[in-house]
Amino acid sequence: MRTKTEPSKRHKMVKETGFYDILGVKPGCTQEDLKKAYRKLALKYHPDKNPNEGEKFKQISMAYEVLSDPEKKAIYDEGGESAIKKGGSGGGGGFHSPMDIFEMFFNGGFGGRSKRERRGKDLVHQLSVTLEELYSGTTRKLALQKNIICDQCEGHGGKKGAVQKCSPCRGTGVVTKIQQLAPGFVQQFEEACRQCRGMGEIIDEKDKCKTCSGRKTVRDRKILEVNVEKGMRDGQKIVFSGEGDQDPELQPGDIVIVLDEKEHPVFKRSGQDLVMHIQLQLVESLCGFQKVIRTLDDRDLVITSYPGEVIKHEAIKYIAGEGMPQYKNPFEKGRLIIQFFVVFPDSLPIDLVPALEQCLQGRPVVKIPQNAEECSLVELDPEHDRRSGGYKNAYDEDEDHHGNPGVRVQQCATS
Ligand SMILES: [Zn+2]
Ligand SMILES: [Zn+2]
Repeated sequence: MRTKTEPSKRHKMVKETGFYDILGVKPGCTQEDLKKAYRKLALKYHPDKNPNEGEKFKQISMAYEVLSDPEKKAIYDEGGESAIKKGGSGGGGGFHSPMDIFEMFFNGGFGGRSKRERRGKDLVHQLSVTLEELYSGTTRKLALQKNIICDQCEGHGGKKGAVQKCSPCRGTGVVTKIQQLAPGFVQQFEEACRQCRGMGEIIDEKDKCKTCSGRKTVRDRKILEVNVEKGMRDGQKIVFSGEGDQDPELQPGDIVIVLDEKEHPVFKRSGQDLVMHIQLQLVESLCGFQKVIRTLDDRDLVITSYPGEVIKHEAIKYIAGEGMPQYKNPFEKGRLIIQFFVVFPDSLPIDLVPALEQCLQGRPVVKIPQNAEECSLVELDPEHDRRSGGYKNAYDEDEDHHGNPGVRVQQCATS
């Protein structure tokens, strides 16, 4: 006899968890969890914010690229990292660059318009918001640093005429090099010009603009007013068009604010619905109760279960129109879904049992076979078992998606 959890709640076995670990998710996680994990880490380790964490940024991107693609994920789950690297178009191929992944994630397309229109890159910032703020809407001020065109030289980097085209690269900023690999085999590759550091032009030291030291742009502090509207979601983007870094040669990119919803101690959001748990004492579940729920906009809701109405353990009910407001249509609201958890008393005064039994309309009579053996029941501590390594698979570690206080274990016989 062994104990198993419900099959639907168990994860398929995966060969390695490395990619999952990099993103801090579990193998059974949803695409939503995956996106959220990638979003947070990619913004944290993006070279703009963390120039020394290039390797980490690369790993995050690769893990996300594999796990977000059902085909690649299946190969990885089955054969691990080596299988996925073999599976590409050879030589570790088949992967996009970390920057492409980032751009696709935040702009919704590979290599987008920025290249064709010669646009500067977008500045992406995360803004942490509470569920209350997403419920009621708010305006947040955000201070950012960005490059703006230098006033002094109007973006020329020096006096008029001081800017010279760089001769080694003929103003392109790139030089072509040829390397002999073996007799008869040469490789041609491009490299940023060292003379002008890829800028394509040179300004004599004495002619450089004093304000920007020839860089054409200066750093500036900008305060953005971010309007968080009712019903906005975790991961939603608020775009400030053309507010990105300025550069004399490029169209400025956008400033993109990505909302990051903080966890709420009481409510969990599920689309437009809110989900909460309420604990009931056994007497409340059997004899009725009243509870007060404080809403996200600080109103008090009273719910009543009338005497004679029984609320079972894990019963789910809802209040219409007390969920999250719909984005752009905030008078339309989702449901407030309540799941009840019944707390049983640890013991009962023995003299009350007969009266209680009568109230509960008796219990079934069990016929004991003649040679039946008398056994005693011993308390089992799942935590202890888990720690000591025995009985390991009996409890699904991922069970607690919704902070469910109950451990659900189903007994069934296996051969
Ligand atoms: Zn200047
Ligand atoms: Zn040059």
